Amino acid sequence: MNPGDTFAGLWREFEPLGRDPQTGGYRRYSWTPADAACRAWFTDQAQKRGLAVEPDNNGNLWAWWGQARADAIATGSHLDSVPDGGGFDGGLGVVAALAAVDLLKAKNFNPERSVVLAAFTEEEGARFGVPCLGSRLLTGAIDPQAARNLTDDAGVTLAEAMTAAGCDAGLIGPRDDLLGAIGAFVELHIEQGRALAPLGAAVGLAESIWPHGRWRLDFDGQADHAGTARFADRHDPMLPYAATVLAARQIAARAGALATFGKVIAEPGGSNGVSAAVRAWLDVRAPDEDTLRDTVTSIRSAAEEFSAEHGVTLTVRQESLTREVRFDRDLRDRIAAVLAAPPVLAAPPVLPTGAGHDAGVLSARLPTAMLFVRNPTGVSHSPAEHAELADCEAGVRALAAVLENLAGPAVSADHAALADPARPPEPMGPARP
Ligand SMILES: [Zn+2]
Repeated sequence: MNPGDTFAGLWREFEPLGRDPQTGGYRRYSWTPADAACRAWFTDQAQKRGLAVEPDNNGNLWAWWGQARADAIATGSHLDSVPDGGGFDGGLGVVAALAAVDLLKAKNFNPERSVVLAAFTEEEGARFGVPCLGSRLLTGAIDPQAARNLTDDAGVTLAEAMTAAGCDAGLIGPRDDLLGAIGAFVELHIEQGRALAPLGAAVGLAESIWPHGRWRLDFDGQADHAGTARFADRHDPMLPYAATVLAARQIAARAGALATFGKVIAEPGGSNGVSAAVRAWLDVRAPDEDTLRDTVTSIRSAAEEFSAEHGVTLTVRQESLTREVRFDRDLRDRIAAVLAAPPVLAAPPVLPTGAGHDAGVLSARLPTAMLFVRNPTGVSHSPAEHAELADCEAGVRALAAVLENLAGPAVSADHAALADPARPPEPMGPARP
């Protein structure tokens, strides 16, 4: 079977789901009709392959190939998107998992360890603010009651959204039984950044995920008339906010970190008035935890200073914080050896990334690894995000080879030799997230 036949066919079906016709971007927000369409499609495809689909009460779906519920090999990614995101971020890993199962079934592979395909919910945190919410709930990294009370921009709580989608939010929380049945998790994901293209590599392996977090800054000033209020009398929250945006960029650049204000709400939002308040969300990522903490502290001090200058009250709240993730070294070496051997024959570059992933959250509980598929422009979280079909197919072949090795018969002497590759992968500079 040509792997393109199965992947390309699946991709054609999946690609239109949740795409906004005006922007061409994706709005696959959790617990919305677009999300339901993605979940229904995944469930249908898994069942067509004879896989038993089980929800885990947290919104994540698990499709089992094989009966044994111990030491299973899990693969997959997330179905949700950022506002007007690209179609590959998340979806590629889910579709590639289905296509990899097809490749393995076509060669009559029978997994000795069960293979389970995962489709995670709310990885981006685009609706409820906390990234990797599905995997955090699964692993117990977030309190279920705190999660139920999270609200979207319309004030709808997660509990209400789940109820509206026909799920019982009272059941969310850690699933140690499920995690205990999984021996390793491998997530295939589109590259976010542009490290593979200059190397001529279609597929790479993850080394680490930068520590990162989100902070909400509320600048509370005083609403006034744009035509009559003198500058000297104003308490305009837009000014300290604007100064903070510029300062964050300079502070982060000096530290070798990244700081981004990607979401801002001016209240009440009149075009002819001084705002009463500006609500802004700051995303910071850094190569290590000390740099992350120092960067946030400096940005916060700058924001306090600017606010004081303008008689504006500043409140800063941390919405999420994710520690540095070092992916499992043994698993990574084993995967690198599999990919360097027939039929894939390409030693993958090993890359750090600034982007968070469910694999990072799961790494606290399981050996995890990530495969990246080349992104020729590096653009992600945008409708311009793209991967070539041939590279997606290379990713599917790589994932299938990895699943075959991990879930296949016990490691033979030949396979054991592969664990010590002649040419170990070289770590390289940080990819842009
Ligand atoms: Zn993603």
